Amino acid sequence: MLTRLEIVGFKSFAKKTVLDFLSSTTAIVGPNGSGKSNVAEAFRFALGEQSMKSMRGKRAEDLIFNGSHSAPRANRAAVAIVFDNKPKSGQRPFRIDFDEVMIERAVLRDGTSEYSINGSRVRLRDIEELLAGANIGETGHHIISQGEADRILSASPRERREMLEDALGLKIYEFKKQEAEKKLVKTEENINQVNSLRRELAPHVRFLESQVKKLERADALRAELVGLAQTYFAIEDAYLAQEKTKVATEKRDTVERLAQTTAELSAIEERATIDAEGVKHLDLVRRTEKEIERVNGERSALARNIGRVEGALTAATERSAKVAREPYAKVPREDLTSLAHEIEKQATEATTPDAIAAALSAVRKIVTVFVSRFVAPADDLLADEERTVFALQNERTDLLSKDAKLSEELEKAKSALARSREALTAHDETGRELRRRILDLAQAKANQEGAVAKNEARHYELTLLTEELERGKTEAIALVGHAAVSYKPLPSSDGLLEDRRATDARKHTLERSKIRLEEAGGTGEEIRQEHKEVSEREAFLAKELDDLAKSAAGLKALIDDLDTELSKHFSDGLAKVNASFGEYFALMFGGGGARLALEEPEEEEEESEENEEYINEPEEKERLGIEINVNLPKKKVRSLMQLSGGERALTSIALIFAMSQVNPPPFLILDETDAALDEANSRRYGDMIENLAKKSQLIVITHNRETMSRANTLYGVTMGGDGVSKLLSVKFDEAVAVAK
Ligand code: ATP
Repeated sequence: MLTRLEIVGFKSFAKKTVLDFLSSTTAIVGPNGSGKSNVAEAFRFALGEQSMKSMRGKRAEDLIFNGSHSAPRANRAAVAIVFDNKPKSGQRPFRIDFDEVMIERAVLRDGTSEYSINGSRVRLRDIEELLAGANIGETGHHIISQGEADRILSASPRERREMLEDALGLKIYEFKKQEAEKKLVKTEENINQVNSLRRELAPHVRFLESQVKKLERADALRAELVGLAQTYFAIEDAYLAQEKTKVATEKRDTVERLAQTTAELSAIEERATIDAEGVKHLDLVRRTEKEIERVNGERSALARNIGRVEGALTAATERSAKVAREPYAKVPREDLTSLAHEIEKQATEATTPDAIAAALSAVRKIVTVFVSRFVAPADDLLADEERTVFALQNERTDLLSKDAKLSEELEKAKSALARSREALTAHDETGRELRRRILDLAQAKANQEGAVAKNEARHYELTLLTEELERGKTEAIALVGHAAVSYKPLPSSDGLLEDRRATDARKHTLERSKIRLEEAGGTGEEIRQEHKEVSEREAFLAKELDDLAKSAAGLKALIDDLDTELSKHFSDGLAKVNASFGEYFALMFGGGGARLALEEPEEEEEESEENEEYINEPEEKERLGIEINVNLPKKKVRSLMQLSGGERALTSIALIFAMSQVNPPPFLILDETDAALDEANSRRYGDMIENLAKKSQLIVITHNRETMSRANTLYGVTMGGDGVSKLLSVKFDEAVAVAK
């Protein structure tokens, strides 16, 4: 899979150097300081290594060929690694659609790095993602640098766990988990934010809801009132129309009959009055009749007056009742406008201190006047209305007593008329027959006159009722609109109307309904609109909260799944690594054994159990570190500290190989990992390399003859007097020679 490495200007490789990796194991040999480790570092560099220390440098410049007395320094270091990306068992190793993948990195003296994939410039992140997809981890556990073999032995248990997880390819779960945890924190922040928004909104929502409920009650009242008004008005219209027709017909009849009676009476009386005595009686009769006419005329004028006063009284009584309900003083707009003009005038004239003082005192006066005139307490207004009612009541009493007096006068006149007629007829000798006839006619005339007066009074009463009905309609329109008067008139079906008491009860109900509606207030369009908007916002927040809660639950489930998967893969991996570790260890040491074990959990937990507060807290599963237990053959050594340098090397090689065996990386670079081995161990090391090479491509940097003998390809690296590393393909014998 790894096919080629191209180095230009990187460290000691001043000139373009190409290493082909065509076989499973490639050995790089050469004398000390010739540049072999620089090759391993070239790999690290191209794969995006950010730690200068792990490339033995301090600054980016340290990575660029620095020149020698015979070779000029380079301005740029570049390394390219080429992989074969042809599909293997149907899948390409790298997730990009090319048969070959070239990852390249260059660094300039100013420290800037340039990355590219197949010649296209990319970001470091793109490289990292591409590599992660092909199981080439970023911690570089597949590149074991010189002297770093026993890093895993000297690391802390926790660091060891990290290395093991990385080697087992579990980092991906760790990343996913961290990502999910980050998202969860963000989601919980959002939940809190939405919750606090909802809490802020709640009182406003409640207020608007209660307002809207009130408005809905007013709507119901309004609808009810429309219904009541329509029925009442229709009935009253029909009633008045019917009554008016009746009065008009009656009037025609009574007036006609009266005229007849009057004519007949005059004719008989004419015949009866022939002498002087008779003329005297007749005169008296005529005068008394005139008197009666006058009194009747006065009475109808009086009746109209009484009607007017009663109308005014009803209106004043209603007004005073309304003022009692509504304790605000209403000020006419013109009064306020003229007050404002006056204040303005005083203010603009004030330029000198004297004028200002004068203006101030004027304003104070104005305020006094304002208070006395406009800010009349509602009680005063009420008193005003009550005074009006009182005055009207007095006026009515006056008029009624005048009417009583007139009625008395009328009675007197009527009896005077009767007496004078009697005298007239007594004087008349024309006969009893005639006298009786005159008396009858006079009686009939008096009755008919009464009927005409009654008819006129009724006509007037109906006019008043009509006016009152019109006022009622105007009021209803003002309160609920034209709907109140949009009704079908009742058919003029004389006599089918309900009892008057029932209609009066309707009127009463209508009035009460009007008062209730007035108290309930206006249509509140703005409140309704605001309530609609606020409710929509609240619903949106509730939905958002729901979504957030779902996504938080989803993330928690994901984290749990990842934890479960991670711990499952981890214990599986640990078991597999242990199996290989034990084997390799026994192989290297010719017996004995070794294994990785999880640290013992810390003791302090028991103490915390006594503390009740913590009992219900879900404890995060502790990530236990990894211990290494060794058991050397024929020795009673258990601790790593007691191992010799060689034994440490053997143990770490066994562990590195075991880890590589379980999750084979695409390639493995071992820089002088075999340095401390004696001949027998070198052979065993060689056997293990051959075994490992079946799964991963190996590049070994070595001085060890045995290791060289196991490689299929050998490169020699030399450095001449010019300080430039050179690469040459060598045969095994040459390699042994070059390595010296
Ligand atoms: P050993 O077998 O002793 O480990 P080696 O073959 O691994 O040696 P390296 O450590 O790879 O040798 O090479 C070190 C050489 O590279 C040194 O001679 C050093 O001067 C040279 N070198 C390192 N950085 C630069 C640079 N920026 N410019 C030129 N030469 C450099």
